[in-house]
Parts: sequence; C-alpha cells; structure tokens
Amino acid sequence: MSIAHIPAQRSAEELQELAGQAGRDLEDADAPDILRWAADTFGHRFCVTSSMEDAVVAHLASRVFPGVRVVFLDTGYHFPETLGTRDAVEAVMDVEVHTLTPRQSVAEQDAEYGPRLHDRDPDLCCALRKVQPLEEGLRAYDAWATGLRRDESPTRAHTPVVGWDEKRRKVKVSPIARWSQRDVDDYIAEHGVLTNPLLSDGYASIGCAPCTRRVLEGEDARAGRWAGRGKTECGLHG
Ligand code: SF4
Repeated sequence: MSIAHIPAQRSAEELQELAGQAGRDLEDADAPDILRWAADTFGHRFCVTSSMEDAVVAHLASRVFPGVRVVFLDTGYHFPETLGTRDAVEAVMDVEVHTLTPRQSVAEQDAEYGPRLHDRDPDLCCALRKVQPLEEGLRAYDAWATGLRRDESPTRAHTPVVGWDEKRRKVKVSPIARWSQRDVDDYIAEHGVLTNPLLSDGYASIGCAPCTRRVLEGEDARAGRWAGRGKTECGLHG
C-alpha cells in the first residue's frame, strides 16, 4: 500500500454497496486481510479509531498500512493512563495520531449545562463530547476501523467485519469482530502491543473516568461502563 495512494471520492451509494459486498466476502477473512482491503480500497480516506484501551487494531493496521491515521477522541474526561497510552502509541508505532476534541472544554460545558452533566444526562454529555466531534472528525474519511468485538456484550453480538454506518454514511470496518478476548491477549503478548495500564488494574473496558468502574467477577467486559445508569453505548456505535 503506497502512502501516496489517494483513491477518487465515492458516492454514499457506492460506499454502501462496497460495504455490503465486502461484509459478505470478508466474513471469514483474517484481520490483516480485512485491513489490507480497507487500505487498498480507501487509501488515506481510511482511518482507525482507538479509545486507547489497547493498540491492537492500530498495530494491525500499521503493519499493512504504515503511517495509517489513528483517530483518538479526547473527551476531556479521560484517565491520565489513557492519554499516556495515546502518547506512547504515537511515539513507538508507525501511525499518525489525530486527536479530536469537543467544541467546548469541560469548564465551558459546565458553565452552560451545569457541572457533572455526565451524572444527570449522560446521553447529552456523550452527544457533545463524543458523537459530535467524531462526526466532524470523520468527514475527511470514507471508512473507519474500530476494535468492536462480538463477544464484548450482547449489543455487539452481530457486528459485521465490514458494514455500513448509516448514521455517518461511511464504511465501518471491524477487523477483530470475530476475535475472543483470548485472541486479543495472545496478539498483545506475541507482538508486545501497548495496552492501557488500567487493564491490569481491574478495568476491562475503558472510557471516560466518571463513567467507568472496575468490573466484578463474572461481569461482561462492558459492565463497568455507565454502571447503574441504564446506558450501554455512547452513541458512537449505536
Ligand atoms: S462517557 Fe461519561 S463523561 Fe464521557 S462523554 Fe459520555 S457521559 Fe460524558
């Protein structure tokens, strides 16, 4: 994959058709082959998004597409360990990290909506600090890769390896959708991939600090997100 490869822009209809075909063709493909298809098809109109829980998808993508753009959403509420992981990924991997930020700082949001909006209206807080900046940041791309896995939670059980993101009208690539937690752990161990230090401290899924707690024995990986608030997704993948 040449770093200078910039394919022609495609219409939403073309992208949707590509997504449907690739979803069927690549269902049984390995993660590197799925990412190679995305890099060859979209060039620099393809990016990886990462929450910096681990750098598995960024690592996989950097091997088939050196210099790949890795988009990170800095909500202003991240654990310091998450920002440290972002900085380490940028320093040691052949990727270009692009950090997106919300329109308002946390202080500006507090001034307009009152403090701790995440406790009172987490859907609005996520809309302002996650959904809106990601939508704006993804305008430069036709396709984005995520680290979604089917075994993470019931809401993700039918994640396609390549699908159509109707909300953003983009191709959504989930190269490790079929992986288990064991597959992730093995890949990290084999390649020495960077991980967020909180994963060794009882956290299984890492988001904003006010909305993330450690998981308990027997809970699924995302049980520690918005615990007790009846919320399971932030709107990025819903
Ligand atoms: S996860 Fe919590 S703090 Fe982060 S944007 Fe959503 S509601 Fe706000």
